[in-house]
Amino acid sequence: MIYKRSSTLFTEAEKVIPGGVNSPVRAFKAVGGTPIYVKEAKGAYLFDEDGNVLIDYINSWGPMILGHAYQPVVDAVVEKAQKGTSFGMPTEIETKIAELVVSMVPNIDKIRFVNSGTEACMSAVRLARGFTGKDKIIKFAGCYHGHSDSFLIQAGSGAVTFGSPNSPGVTAGTAKDTLLANYNDLASVEALVAANKNEIASIIIEPVAGNMGCIPPINGFLEGLRKLCDEPSILLIFDEVMTGFRLAKGGVQELFGVNADIVCFGKVIGGGLPVGAFAARNEIMNHLAPLGPVYQAGTLSGNPLAMAAGFAMLTALNTDENVFKRLAEKTEYLHKGLTKVLTDNNIIHTINRVGSMISVHFDDTKVVDFETAAKGNNETFKTIFHGMLNQGIYIAPSAFETWFITDALTYKDLDATIAACITVFK
Ligand SMILES: *Cc1c(COP(=O)(O)O)cnc(C)c1O
Repeated sequence: MIYKRSSTLFTEAEKVIPGGVNSPVRAFKAVGGTPIYVKEAKGAYLFDEDGNVLIDYINSWGPMILGHAYQPVVDAVVEKAQKGTSFGMPTEIETKIAELVVSMVPNIDKIRFVNSGTEACMSAVRLARGFTGKDKIIKFAGCYHGHSDSFLIQAGSGAVTFGSPNSPGVTAGTAKDTLLANYNDLASVEALVAANKNEIASIIIEPVAGNMGCIPPINGFLEGLRKLCDEPSILLIFDEVMTGFRLAKGGVQELFGVNADIVCFGKVIGGGLPVGAFAARNEIMNHLAPLGPVYQAGTLSGNPLAMAAGFAMLTALNTDENVFKRLAEKTEYLHKGLTKVLTDNNIIHTINRVGSMISVHFDDTKVVDFETAAKGNNETFKTIFHGMLNQGIYIAPSAFETWFITDALTYKDLDATIAACITVFK
């Protein structure tokens, strides 16, 4: 396949946009080559500026769970746009989507909408600090919670891909309030809690990790965190920006039967428009301004176009009883197919999968945390990335990323993907 026009467009972009991209994960720095410019997309396919058709396994990094240009979302946005795109005043659609989320997700009474997952996590931590009157937070190496200062400590995929796990520009004062534990290692959390008695406001976690590849929580890990939080009143924050409305209607809380105190959303919740949100029970949410003292605001928060898109998306997911099962089955089919190709060709690998999140690590150690995720062979990853791309299969340009399966994928698309993988390693 030829990527000539993409390459020209990228050269122009580099002159006026740092690295040519508005988010580093879009760059091809880890794999070489230049990013592909999308002209349009429909269902499971991307149509690029060179006229290539690509099967998409990124899906805007998660949001397009029902495929690109999903008609009910497009219709909702178009209809709203004709009536004005922003007012800075309340609209009914905000209450409708809030009611819908509260009905779908366990253990929450109220929700506040923001514009990104970053904002959701940042605000959730401020709320946890305001509510508990404590300063420190515990996060896990390899987990990503957006790019706000407190979280840029061993922050997973994007940051790791570009070799800056800890970003300059984060002050020492901020960094000292973020304590680092190891994923799936309850003892590492217990030690931090014991060493910082009455100082920890919250533990924030991706309850199924997706930013160091996909890593499921081992048996008892989330339950253990829940217990650890109950006693000294630490708030447990589930960052479900990636997993929310992807793994189950009610997210990981529903899937694993563990309750969080605050839940963060992004990605799918906006149906492809910029939306994030955080939610909790009344007692906690009532601490937010204007009811309570913890300040949080946004000129475009609850934007009518974004809320209409999110409402259409969540309504579709809420009314389709089989969607999450179908997604998981498609992902399992791909998992089996890839396993066979890699095994037949003696490529050392480990595939992790939860529902419609899947990642291929090129190492045979069981991948349970950041350290084991980092062991993957990047040369093999580059081979598969470019080999697949040349055959019109678009996977994320980093070995640390999860592939996102969309319901728009057909079994024919999955077979084509597996066949392309055979060609790569033949
Ligand atoms: C993507 C992501 C974020 C950040 O969301 P943005 O909308 O990119 O700011 C936060 N947490 C998790 C788990 C994510 O996957």
